Amino acid sequence: MFPSLTSVTIEIETRAVMRPRRISILGATGSIGESTLDLIGRNPSAYQVVALTGGHNAGRLAELAILHRAELAVIADPQCYATLRAGLAGTGIEMAAGEEALLEAASRPADWVMAAIVGAAGLKPTLQAVRQGTATALANKECLVSAGDIFMAEVARAKTTLLPVDSEHSAASQAMVGAPKENIERVCLTASGGPFRCWSFEQMREARPEQALNHPNWSMGPKVTIDSATLMNKGLELLEAHHLFALAPTKLDVLIHPQSIVHCLVHLSDGSVLAQLSCPDMRTPIAYSLAWPERMHAPTKRLDLAALGALTFEAPDTERFPALRLAREVLTAGGSAGTVLNAANEVAVEAFLAERIGFLGIAGLVEATLAVSADLLALTRESVEDVLAIDAEARVCARSLLGRFA
Ligand code: NAD
Ligand code: MG
Repeated sequence: MFPSLTSVTIEIETRAVMRPRRISILGATGSIGESTLDLIGRNPSAYQVVALTGGHNAGRLAELAILHRAELAVIADPQCYATLRAGLAGTGIEMAAGEEALLEAASRPADWVMAAIVGAAGLKPTLQAVRQGTATALANKECLVSAGDIFMAEVARAKTTLLPVDSEHSAASQAMVGAPKENIERVCLTASGGPFRCWSFEQMREARPEQALNHPNWSMGPKVTIDSATLMNKGLELLEAHHLFALAPTKLDVLIHPQSIVHCLVHLSDGSVLAQLSCPDMRTPIAYSLAWPERMHAPTKRLDLAALGALTFEAPDTERFPALRLAREVLTAGGSAGTVLNAANEVAVEAFLAERIGFLGIAGLVEATLAVSADLLALTRESVEDVLAIDAEARVCARSLLGRFA
């Protein structure tokens, strides 16, 4: 018996729906990249991995490319190419190195790309994916801090779907579904407070990298973990939220919530407050961005509020954590200030991890760089190249000031 026309149509449609989704990961060897691949690896028939990129860890990149049958593996640092070539020998996986190759990886046709390179280094590759119109899951908050206006204009021009991955912004986007913009009174990002939440200023002066890297709730890459200890991370997230959701600085707030269960609170004009809750595991917001607009299973610990017993909240202390005040000032100033703040912070975190400056020197260096950068702050940016030029100058300036905080 021949199948009816309807059943043929349904079968064709089902096959079309079942086609594996082509996905790429920029920053595949990092914490977010590995978490994304963990989800993908649990259902390999649903995904076709197009491109995976890494910064320096070519050995791990090769392992991941083989494990997930990637079409292309790109290592940003050309000096690591020999390791990548050795790791992928005989596999038939395409490979390349360097900045141009990174942009080529981001340009490969895909249905979804995870932007998880850390820092302003992710700006050009992420924008490349955005310009292709590839649905972009955005973990790299520095893109928005440094170049938010230019970045969001490109998103609008290419009509690209941008899916926030940062847990607070993923939570906010979920809590805001269906809420008219004019009814949103306040969006409150929560912060764990980091490992030094209860430390005095004097104790923090002596804080060592291994103590700052010991985050109480989240397992993350080193840069964002240090940013969480200074609370600069929450400052960067205020700027991120401002650009992502086009919300005025006065509508954005921060609340310390040591358990990291409530990720964001959206206050509405009728007095309702909507929130998203989950155990602190980045695979939950990554899964939301991967399955959007549907939902998928994520193998994360389930929330048991009775076992937790209490969720607590407190106001942030900007005296002990001046990075948050600085970020708020930059948010109000707008323009190039975000580029300078981000560049100086990247230099400061690197210097702290290399034990060239103390913990309090991180915010100190950012403040000092902003204070002497009047000329940079006055510059208007019209392109990514403008942003990167200001970023480069701000880094030179920050490095010249390092000695003050040694
Ligand atoms: P990570 O350090 O673990 O990984 C960063 C990735 O970028 C690695 O693959 C690394 O090889 C690559 N990389 C580094 N420098 C590069 C360069 N110059 N050129 C190309 N690639 C380079 O960082 P992460 O914790 O995964 O964070 C990634 C981004 O996601 C950051 O912007 C961070 O703020 C954001 N984020 C992370 C988390 C988290 O839980 N880890 C949560 C929210 C947001
Ligand atoms: Mg976050």
